[in-house]
Amino acid sequence: MPIIQTKNLYKIYNEDTIPVYALKDLTLDFEVGEFTTIVGPSGSGKTTLLNMIGGLDVPSRGSVLVDGTDISTLKKNQIIDFRLHHIGFVFQSYNLIPVLTALENVSLIMELQNRDKDEIRKRAIHVLEEVGLSDKLNSRPSELSGGQQQRVAVARALASRPKYVLADEPTANLDTKSAMNLLDIMARLNKDESMTFIFSTHDQRVIERARRVVTLVDGALYEDLKKEG
Ligand code: ADP
Ligand code: ADP
Repeated sequence: MPIIQTKNLYKIYNEDTIPVYALKDLTLDFEVGEFTTIVGPSGSGKTTLLNMIGGLDVPSRGSVLVDGTDISTLKKNQIIDFRLHHIGFVFQSYNLIPVLTALENVSLIMELQNRDKDEIRKRAIHVLEEVGLSDKLNSRPSELSGGQQQRVAVARALASRPKYVLADEPTANLDTKSAMNLLDIMARLNKDESMTFIFSTHDQRVIERARRVVTLVDGALYEDLKKEG
């Protein structure tokens, strides 16, 4: 079964006044372990789609299924719980907490999940090692480069072993070297841990690395390209 399915998904903003069709009749399946980019011009609905499959916003019509469950049938606290336990989020602007160290930033979600303290520490150190930051455990975001901050954000997203990771333009603020480094790390985690990644991008360097490229235009599916091999 696909891990995520959208079925005839619509998102219409301002439906009562001047409607904006941000997503139009989108039916897509995402399988476990896929490494997919969502591409398309600015305003084509990429962020809206990520918000829908991240349970951050609700469809106007149609549905989003995760492991076969329509997430719109979940109650508000169940959705919050679902996001916390099953989805890793990575944002364009990193969204790290400035007063916390890398280790503390990565630990935070697991603390919200009420995990065992020793387990949290071990796991946080492990994922920070995986993203190449074992020497930055006690650094605050301001002491890290943009690329390093985004790697902390990826470590944070992965620390709690989510079902899938959603990233909105994760390389937008990174130079080529940092962007490629981040992509190498994501690709390795995708391969070694069968972690499912779905991320939006404008970045040609990133698109070249994706296994699958879903192109949106004006909120509708324009192309769904799966690469061989
Ligand atoms: P992208 O991420 O591809 O740039 P978005 O998903 O941000 O596209 O936006 C898709 C369309 O929906 C755009 O026309 C945008 O202006 C519109 N839109 C997004 N969010 C809102 C909102 N909260 N209210 C009204 N329109 C919105
Ligand atoms: P991106 O291009 O990276 O998707 P945007 O600048 O289009 O980012 O959107 C940033 C935020 O503003 C999003 O949360 C989106 O939902 C919201 N937004 C976008 N367009 C509109 C709009 N026309 N009205 C209200 N909110 C909007």
